[in-house]
Amino acid sequence: MKTTFFSLREWLEIVDQAGRLKHVAKKVELRFELAAVSKKRSAATAIVFDDPQGIKYPVVVGSAGSREALAQALGVPVSELASCFSQAQAHPQPCVTVDKQYAPVKEIINEDVDLADLPIPTFHARDAGPFITAGVVVAKNPQTGETNVSIHRMQVHDRNHLGIYLLPRHLLHFQRIAEEQGQPLPIAIVIGLDPIILLASQAIAPLGANEFEIASALYGRPLELVQCEKSDILVPAWAEMVLEGVILPQKRMPEGPFGEYPRYYADRADRHYVELSCMTMRQNALYQAIVPASNEHILLGAVAREGGILRLVQHAVPSAKAVHLTPSGGGRYHLVIQIDKRNRGEAKNAMMAAFASSQEVKHIVVVDTDIDIFNSDEVLHAVATRCQAGRDVMIIEGASCNKMDPSSDDGYGDKMGIDATIPFGAPEGKFEKITIPGEDIIDVDSYFDS
Ligand code: MN
Repeated sequence: MKTTFFSLREWLEIVDQAGRLKHVAKKVELRFELAAVSKKRSAATAIVFDDPQGIKYPVVVGSAGSREALAQALGVPVSELASCFSQAQAHPQPCVTVDKQYAPVKEIINEDVDLADLPIPTFHARDAGPFITAGVVVAKNPQTGETNVSIHRMQVHDRNHLGIYLLPRHLLHFQRIAEEQGQPLPIAIVIGLDPIILLASQAIAPLGANEFEIASALYGRPLELVQCEKSDILVPAWAEMVLEGVILPQKRMPEGPFGEYPRYYADRADRHYVELSCMTMRQNALYQAIVPASNEHILLGAVAREGGILRLVQHAVPSAKAVHLTPSGGGRYHLVIQIDKRNRGEAKNAMMAAFASSQEVKHIVVVDTDIDIFNSDEVLHAVATRCQAGRDVMIIEGASCNKMDPSSDDGYGDKMGIDATIPFGAPEGKFEKITIPGEDIIDVDSYFDS
């Protein structure tokens, strides 16, 4: 597959042609008002706020806000999103480095960074202030030079300092290596990207995997990268803007609270601290924000994770067909797995593979192929009618889980798997769903007067 877009601007043209782009021309306050308008707007619509509080850079939200939009970006049906991502992750492709003169993100270079120049919104009632939420952070492993790409929330502290939240994953690993050497960790914060790079950044990939190479595989051609001004980090040449800086060693500042994807506030605590020294951008740059806990936030994480989870579940249970990380679980905690069960006990094998794939997966329901895994009513119907708790529920106590789950003990908690598949060897017809012959094809409106 080859995509026809390679940047946020080109992607927005496609979204516009599909009738899913709206402009807000009137002046909008960055504190709460922009988030409120975004939240109230239908989920499937991308919005460009042309006048965010008089700041010259428009704000883009929601350009990857539905499964349909992501499927269009990847050029596959919605049902194949996870398997498409899984394929790309299994077969990453090289990127290409271009000269600065061919990189639009170098059109303007500014060494006097002032974050107040950017339209950074404040989203939820108790948020500590403005947060950068679509900042794709690029860094290199100080030991191996390998690149990591990941999204982190970043709180504006002052004109050129940000707080950054690092979960115990790859970027934190790099930071610890640098800090042990007493060194700052150079980073680049890339803002204004199409859904492919945003999705790739969310891959549950092993340490050492370069998420940009997953993006190349998804594009069907090499992602063009260009070197930063202040470090040898490579960033997407067609990004809207790049903030360059370092995570300072031995320096922590209070960060949070911040309304996060589980729809609760993350707490205030001393967290890592970024110092910025340079900003490069395109002419007429667009600023991109992901509204926390929005469909866009939930889905970008969910689809990439589904790809990785499906791959691992299929290793354990080859008859596994599909997986869905539901919106109610923030696209992280609740997983539905669909299997075409061939052997007794396979549902539990599928659960164990999925639990092992990511510490974030908390509750799993396994269903048969006659259940639409995107329809929560059908999934709960299977739980209600195909499951006996004593036999079909598996509980694992005291595992590592996601720290943002407020019911966990700071990232320590339980897992539960529910086998809602038809019991092996059930008599023919016992679980046959009722149907009315003809109900699928009748034109029901024709039976009623207006
Ligand atoms: Mn990584």
